[in-house]
Amino acid sequence: MQKPLRIVLTGAPGCGKGTQARILREKAHICHLSTGEMLRAEATKDTPFGRNLKAALDRGEFATDEMIVDMVSRRIDEPDCQNGFILDGFPRTLPQAFALEKILSSKYIKLDCAIEIQVPDEIIMERILGRYTCAKCGEGYHDKNIKPKIYGVCDKCGGTEFIKRADDNRETVKNRLVNYRQLTYPTISYFEQKGLLRCVDGTGSISATAGKIAEILGLQ
Ligand code: AMP
Repeated sequence: MQKPLRIVLTGAPGCGKGTQARILREKAHICHLSTGEMLRAEATKDTPFGRNLKAALDRGEFATDEMIVDMVSRRIDEPDCQNGFILDGFPRTLPQAFALEKILSSKYIKLDCAIEIQVPDEIIMERILGRYTCAKCGEGYHDKNIKPKIYGVCDKCGGTEFIKRADDNRETVKNRLVNYRQLTYPTISYFEQKGLLRCVDGTGSISATAGKIAEILGLQ
């Protein structure tokens, strides 16, 4: 049996973390933990908390460190994470990075590495504004780059309804990029200082980037 892999996937919004995490999940048989997905699920609840959270996400604002850290800490204790996990979108601030270190050491778990997917801002904007997913299975598409083989029909499940994320609009993306630079970028230097950082060029095709990540992790 393969040794558990514990990985952080990081990079700007729209760099392809979610897509690559889903590919890696299948290749390495490990759990994909996306804090963005967890928050979006919370935000669909018709409660004062859910409504406030939705409004904050729609503006591109971060959730509080305390809430996120608690959510991740509880999630990695679940049985499906025992074989390893990919953290997608976490840590997003330095306090979250410090908290992750504490959480993992208290559970006697070691992080294998943090992989930064590097993509310039001009490409990020184009990728985010064009992306959408199948409402039924979550398969990702793009207006220009990744179209379904049959117009309006999901390649994977045959679904005919598609959705766009409410925070994938130009204004919100600008906010998300500012937050990324101010709050998330310092976590990359933090991983570098710890000797855990690996970088991949994310400007090529999905499969090219997936190949580079697999090579770093010794998976083929
Ligand atoms: P993502 O799906 O990773 O692009 O995340 C969508 C949104 O969820 C982000 O723009 C943030 O508002 C929020 N979010 C996701 N992960 C975190 C985190 N670790 N800390 C704070 N906010 C987060």
